Amino acid sequence: MPMIVKFWGVRGSIPTTAQWARVHGGNTPCVEVRCDDAVFICDAGTGIRELGRDLRRRSPAPKAAHLFLSHLHLDHVQGLPFFLAAVPDLRVHVYGVSDDDTSRRRLLSGELGAEFFPQNSSEPRASLTFDHLEEDARNVSGVRVRSFPLQHPGGCHGFSFECDGRKVVYASDVDLEAGAAGGKERTATGDVLTLRSVPRALLNAARGADLLIVDGQFNDAQYRAHMGSGHSSCLTATDLAIQADVKNLALFHHDPDDRDSDVDAKVRLCLARASKLGADLPIFAAREGVALKF
Ligand SMILES: [Zn+2]
Ligand SMILES: [Zn+2]
Repeated sequence: MPMIVKFWGVRGSIPTTAQWARVHGGNTPCVEVRCDDAVFICDAGTGIRELGRDLRRRSPAPKAAHLFLSHLHLDHVQGLPFFLAAVPDLRVHVYGVSDDDTSRRRLLSGELGAEFFPQNSSEPRASLTFDHLEEDARNVSGVRVRSFPLQHPGGCHGFSFECDGRKVVYASDVDLEAGAAGGKERTATGDVLTLRSVPRALLNAARGADLLIVDGQFNDAQYRAHMGSGHSSCLTATDLAIQADVKNLALFHHDPDDRDSDVDAKVRLCLARASKLGADLPIFAAREGVALKF
C-alpha cells in the first residue's frame, strides 16, 4: 500500500496572498500523510482549511483523522477552527507528547472559544479526542508513528510515519545548527567539504526515509541574520538529508518574504551542495497542492 503525502500549506510564520508567492503557495503549515484509509495531519496552519473541504468531498468521507501538532505557534494552529467547522462529522484525534501534556487541550479550548472564533455553539463541528504519543513508536491505525524533539523556541516535535516499508518524516520549525551539539562531522570522500553537524535525534529519526520534509527557511546569510529564531539554513537541511540517507528532501516552512524565485534559488543552492558532496539526492521545495506517492 503506497503512502501519499499532500502539501496543503508550506509557508512559515504568517500566510501570504502575494502574487509572487503563488507557485509555492502562501498558506501556513499543513501536510497530509495517508496510508490506506488512515489519515494523518501534520499541523493545522491555514492550509488545513482546504484539506477539510477536500476530506468532506471524498467518497467515502473519512470518519476519523489523526492530528499531530509540532508545537503551538500560531502559524501551526491558526486554521484549526475553520477545519473543524468544515468537517462536522469527523472525529479528530489530537496528540500531545506525553500523558501529562495538556497543552494542546488547553490551547485549543481557548482558540475555539467565542473570544477568538465567532462560531455559534449550536453549529456542528468535528469532535476532538485528546491522546498522546510516547517518544517510542506507537501504532496508530496500522501506521508506526514516532515523535522526536526539535530545537525551537518553546519546544517543538517532529514526527515519523512508517507503513508497509515506507517512511515519511516531518520536521518543521527546527534550528538544525543549534540542536547539533554532540553531532558528529564527517568528510565526504574526495571532497574538501565537510558535512555539517546535525541533531542526533533527528538524524536517527530521518534515517532511510523515503521523504524528509524539513525546515529550510533560510540560506546561510539569512540564517546568520536570524540566529535564535528557531529555523534552519536549507544547506544544513541538505547535509542532514545526505547523512540520513533519505531518498527525497522537501524544503519546507518557506520564508513569508520569499518570492517563488527566492525559494527556487534555495533549491538550486542545495542541489549544488549535494552535487559537490557527491550525493545523488532529489531536492525540491514543498509546494501547496502537490501530492506525492511513495
Ligand atoms: Zn512555524
Ligand atoms: Zn514555531
